[in-house]
Amino acid sequence: MKVLEGKSVFGGIAIGRISFFDRGESQVVRRHIEDSQAELTRFEEAREQAKTELQGLYEKALQEVGEASAMIFEVHQMMLDDLDYVESVTNMIETQKINAEFAVAHTGDNFSQIFSSMEDDYMKERAADVKDISNRIIRILQGRETGGLDSGEPVILAAEDLAPSETVQLDKSKVLSFVTHLGSTNSHTAILARTMNIPALIGVDLDKSMEGKMAVVDGFAGKLYVEPEEDILSDYREKKAKEDKKRELLQNLKGKENITKDGKKINLYANIGGVGDIASVLANDAGGIGLFRSEFLYLESDTYPTEEEQFKAYKTVAETMAGKKVIIRTLDIGADKQVDYFQMEKEENPAMGYRAIRICLDRVEIFKTQLRAIYRASYYGSIGIMFPMIISVNEVKRIKEIVEEVKAELDEQGILYGEVELGIMIETPAAALISDLLAKEVDFFSIGTNDLTQYTLAIDRQNPKLDSIYDSHHEAILRLLQMVVDNGHKENCWVGICGELGADTTLTETFLKMGFDELSVTPSMVLPVREQIRNVILS
Ligand code: PEP
Ligand code: MG
Repeated sequence: MKVLEGKSVFGGIAIGRISFFDRGESQVVRRHIEDSQAELTRFEEAREQAKTELQGLYEKALQEVGEASAMIFEVHQMMLDDLDYVESVTNMIETQKINAEFAVAHTGDNFSQIFSSMEDDYMKERAADVKDISNRIIRILQGRETGGLDSGEPVILAAEDLAPSETVQLDKSKVLSFVTHLGSTNSHTAILARTMNIPALIGVDLDKSMEGKMAVVDGFAGKLYVEPEEDILSDYREKKAKEDKKRELLQNLKGKENITKDGKKINLYANIGGVGDIASVLANDAGGIGLFRSEFLYLESDTYPTEEEQFKAYKTVAETMAGKKVIIRTLDIGADKQVDYFQMEKEENPAMGYRAIRICLDRVEIFKTQLRAIYRASYYGSIGIMFPMIISVNEVKRIKEIVEEVKAELDEQGILYGEVELGIMIETPAAALISDLLAKEVDFFSIGTNDLTQYTLAIDRQNPKLDSIYDSHHEAILRLLQMVVDNGHKENCWVGICGELGADTTLTETFLKMGFDELSVTPSMVLPVREQIRNVILS
């Protein structure tokens, strides 16, 4: 048995096998080839090997998890024999004289797009499968070992580091826990782990020999046990059962109000990164969505998401929340959230660089596409929009002009939209300090304490070395929070917190005393925060 120390990003216990994240699949380049016959043979051989691998996985899954779960590997084998798919790849290799990897990647993308646009849910799900089989062939063509999430069973995912764009694309049903060597507790990858409600550790000294080994992640103590001894394993099985029980008990708070013992109420909403997180918002009984990090739509995509694609996502969220508030944050890329197709120049200091609203006010067409999609979706629910990284009143005025232009265009085209609340994120000290002026311009403030802490304390939230002094409880932050609430209320703005600090139950009472109107937290923290609110006596 080996016991490794790490830093906890999210509590909980996971028991399962370790699987290292396989990153190679995205590096497929187009190459011109002379001998298309040889390339066709490479493709055929890789296709055959893929089928053999899938047969092996089918048999393993059949034994370990049963027929129903093993079926997927049979479906994948059949897809590898699909005539349209095979012909599309071979045709590209022959006519365009290109390498097999590229032809497979391109065909996989095309087919997956076709499947996703189908009405039928079963067919829609095949989009991911066709990508999966294509990635398998590409991996074989590139001579890489299997890795990542290939085993069919949920795993403890190990990686040197995970970018937000990688995390967001993982099949969440196959990840029991994240364990990485690099990363910081305040990074977006950590935030995503919290949204997924799974234990996660960073700063763990991993090595590849751990691949496939049984392990326990203790997200409370920040420990990873590799090949644990039987007594440790059974101890943790018991602890996990207790944890599950505790979570079950919290379920009793569903449907209850967020009200203190002496009658003060507060809105308790949830943060999401995409449509896939709504199930967890509903399961945890959040009163609305206080932060929809819309940039994940851009991070998941290989190119700019169209107005139609965005509209569909926002509409689904609005409809599913059935009239409850949904606050969509406009595109916040830059810093740790890099999107290749934006082709941004490398910066010395990206956290303070060309990012978020700065990009939107510079590349207005991208901004308008998103605003049109949001406004169109607003017809189907109760939507608010908030703008990230604001530092001045002029920015807000310019945003409002653009919003008016978008609305005028929609009016002209006879497209309906609903009442939309407009708000800003307070995540720079500048915004907090001029919140009296900003409050005159908007309907609400939502405080992004992750960035507000980073900029106020001059501590890079991405730097793991500084985690121990990244102190969101710092008196400077608490003073800014109080200032923003007071300034907001003077102008009838409601004020909330959507940064991670909102879920810190040691501060729930303080937030209530400060007068906050809303807290928006990761879905799995809604019930624990509700429990805390219900225990508070303010007077
Ligand atoms: C924040 O900065 O607190 C916030 C909510 O935004 P993000 O974490 O996505 O930067
Ligand atoms: Mg932020």
